[in-house]
Formats: sequence, C-alpha cells, structure tokens
Amino acid sequence: FVDATLRHAERLSNLVSDLLDISKIESGRYEQEAGWIDLTSAVTSIVDDMKPLASERGVVLTADDLAPVDVLVDVKALDQVLTNLIQNAVKYAHEKGVRVWVRTAVRKKDVKICVLDEGPGIPKIHHNRIFERFYRVDAGRSKHMGGTGLGLSIVKHLVGSMGGSVGLHLNEPVGTVFWFTVPRF
Ligand code: ATP
Ligand code: MG
Repeated sequence: FVDATLRHAERLSNLVSDLLDISKIESGRYEQEAGWIDLTSAVTSIVDDMKPLASERGVVLTADDLAPVDVLVDVKALDQVLTNLIQNAVKYAHEKGVRVWVRTAVRKKDVKICVLDEGPGIPKIHHNRIFERFYRVDAGRSKHMGGTGLGLSIVKHLVGSMGGSVGLHLNEPVGTVFWFTVPRF
C-alpha cells in the first residue's frame, strides 16, 4: 500500500512539474539564455547523469559518436530535451540488457542529436501524433510506468524555441530513433 501511494505521489509530482514547464514555455516566461557550449562535454555530462537510472533498469546507456562542435543554446533546455528522450528510451525498454545510445552529427547548417534504443518501437501510425500533449502509444503500458504523455510535447516546444526541429523513425532492426537539431551559427 505504501509502495502504491509513493508511486501515485511520484506520478502526481511529475505531472505537476511537467505542467509548470509547459505553462512557462507557452506563456513565454521560459526565458532562454543561450550561450556557447561544447556539445560533446554537455552531452557526456547529461548521459552520465542518466546512467544510474539506466543501470537500475538493466539498460546499457552510452554516448558513442560525439562530434566536436560548439553550439549556441540554452544549456537547461538542451538538458531537458535530451533527458526526456533518454528517460523514454530507458523507461520503455522492454527487456534487460538492451542498449540506449546517443550520437551527434555535425552538418552544414545544424547539428543533429540522436537517441537510439532497442525497445519495442513505435508503430508508424503514431508518428504524426506522438508529440501531442497527453498522447500515449499504449495508455496501459505508460500508466503503469508513471507517464503522463507530456514529455514529448515539452521536447517539441523546447527544440522549436532553440530554432531546431525534432522527429523520429524506426531503428533497425528494432527500436526507435528520436532526433532533434540545433542550428549552427
Ligand atoms: P512523461 O514523459 O510526461 O512522463 P510519457 O513518457 O508517457 O510521460 P511522452 O514522453 O510524451 O510521455 O511519450 C509519449 C508516449 O510515446 C509514451 O507514453 C510511450 O507510449 C511512447 N514512447 C515515447 N518514447 C518511446 C520510446 N523510446 N520507445 C517506445 N515508446 C515510446
Ligand atoms: Mg516521457
């Protein structure tokens, strides 16, 4: 009973903090403070922060292919976006021993950051709605996992306010790739 109560309390607390973020972003009170940062060290430290959660769930989390580049972004926003995507990848991994890895690629006009997983995958019919508020692929599954369906809508907002875009595609042979871009100046 105490366990269940704790889970409910955690879910409520996550929901409240998600809603606060959304209302701040939408009302324009989420003030971005862009600064030049070294993307490799920023991503490495975000990934390191997520490693305990991953290993708790038996998921192997790594940052593999990080391109050396400086980007002009709000480091808090970058952190929140990447943390959300990694959290999902780890949370929806359906078995122990699967991998989640982060990659970056420098392109002409932007930098692409990818979070790849070997989880259950997201059927294509959900792809164009997945960034909507409260949208969940499998309400039963994510309810059990404490999700509210707000994470990806926050991600989309934040990426947009950083001047980038966001998307997903199927991973080969299994899983999902979530990617987002940040512009280069
Ligand atoms: P919250 O992030 O607000 O705690 P959530 O994780 O349910 O809740 P989103 O992050 O917006 O919400 O994700 C929406 C839905 O997309 C999830 O409920 C889940 O069904 C699906 N999903 C997201 N990422 C993945 C993934 N990497 N693999 C499989 N399914 C995913
Ligand atoms: Mg989520």
